[in-house]
Amino acid sequence: MLTGWGRTSPTAATLCAVHDEADVVDAVGAATPERGILARGLGRSYGDSAQDAGGIVLDMTTMSGFTRDGSTLRAQAGASLDDVLRAIVPEGYFVPVTPGTRFVTVGGATAADIHGKNHHVEGSFGAHVRRMRVVTGTGEVVECAPGSDAFAATVGGMGLTGVITEAQVDLLPIATSRMRVDTERHADLDALMAAMTQGDHQYRYSVAWVDSLSPAGRGVLTRGDHASLADLPAGTDDPLAYDPRPRLGAPPWMPSGALNRASTRAFNEAWFRRAPRERRGEITSIPAFFHPLDGVRHWNRVYGPRGFLQYQFVVPDDASALVGLALQRLREAGAPSFLTVLKRFGPGHDAPLSFPMQGWTLAADIPARIPALRDVLDALDGEVIAAGGRHYLAKDSRMSAQTLSAGYPQLARWRAMRDALDPRGVFASDQARRLGLTLGSAP
Ligand SMILES: Cc1cc2nc3c(=O)[nH]c(=O)nc-3n(C[C@H](O)[C@H](O)[C@H](O)COP(=O)(O)OP(=O)(O)OC[C@H]3O[C@@H](n4cnc5c(N)ncnc54)[C@H](O)[C@@H]3O)c2cc1C
Repeated sequence: MLTGWGRTSPTAATLCAVHDEADVVDAVGAATPERGILARGLGRSYGDSAQDAGGIVLDMTTMSGFTRDGSTLRAQAGASLDDVLRAIVPEGYFVPVTPGTRFVTVGGATAADIHGKNHHVEGSFGAHVRRMRVVTGTGEVVECAPGSDAFAATVGGMGLTGVITEAQVDLLPIATSRMRVDTERHADLDALMAAMTQGDHQYRYSVAWVDSLSPAGRGVLTRGDHASLADLPAGTDDPLAYDPRPRLGAPPWMPSGALNRASTRAFNEAWFRRAPRERRGEITSIPAFFHPLDGVRHWNRVYGPRGFLQYQFVVPDDASALVGLALQRLREAGAPSFLTVLKRFGPGHDAPLSFPMQGWTLAADIPARIPALRDVLDALDGEVIAAGGRHYLAKDSRMSAQTLSAGYPQLARWRAMRDALDPRGVFASDQARRLGLTLGSAP
């Protein structure tokens, strides 16, 4: 049984470990459209994108080797950013884009075209991939680079164009393993968004946490960059030391009511108060800045057996009012979210299914058990689409096929590219079936 990180909609598939590209070629060659086949990384997408009910799911984490040559990483697709960072940070390099967890694979990062806190200046993960090897639906190995259809369709293509076996990725040189961080508290959403509009371009990384239960939309803005040697206290021993702490475990299950409005309100209050009103130049670690949730293993279990979903959308700059409206709708629905994150995106990637576009993105974790949640989110989907926005496939577990096609105007172009790469129609996922993503595809 496989689920996404939100632990909703489990389905059964045959999970196969692959050890090299030849294994992938064999598995894809043997796949049929009736059962379908799909690559899976570390299962950190929230919904059903890395599942294929009744089909074959390739566990790519057994293909996890990588090497570094100067500032180029050559990695097998199942290499995790966790392993990569442990090797390259002490050598003075960082990944070009990291999500809020380091437990994702290079293949999953490319297939979802993930974004990080630096999207407004450095774009998405796919913008830093120089080449990749992909096993297409005919079992052929294609080596592709930016500018080709195979590359554009596979970046953000959610595993439906082929199995990425290897990628070459540009790394960022760093002088230290520490971060230099500025933090500001803002009493309301307007002030928070104004500060982001005015100042984000001065920082490589920026992200805001929003108190989802505060009617004013108060929040904490955290921005920073990799610290230089001069930023570190004199006598710092090893400026490139990197040692993410061993992780605490969350209990194997929690009663579904443990995370409710009262506990979320208490958490949000404490989180807001804990942040300084304003602090400049704090020196902190990479895990503390980028991956605070990774300190607790299986934290997704706190949402109880029914799981949770993450609602993430992006709207263009001129529709910034949608951010406040969405927060209001979620509050009215009684949806307690302790993790609500607001970010500004820079220009998007030319890959047709890539999610980011210039504007504002809001992401809120919501327990799946909230009554009428589907209706509230369906209505919100309509407002996001009307405003020219869209939703993120890597977080999605519930949107409709209509919402998808309205949000991704290049869907037909992507489908045509996909059909050329998978003429037998063997790549499939639960998400693809739910959204009709591969509709019209051969055979
Ligand atoms: C705590 C947390 C924080 C997160 N923060 C962010 C964030 O800040 N920004 C962001 O963009 N995302 C974020 N995510 C989402 C995550 O980055 C993406 O879902 C990512 O795709 C997960 O990688 P994975 O290896 O777990 O892939 P999986 O979840 O296993 O798979 C995701 C998709 O990639 C496909 N895929 C996987 N490997 C391959 C391959 N080798 N070849 C072809 N297709 C493949 C799968 O078929 C599936 O469609 C976050 C997730 C969590 C749990």
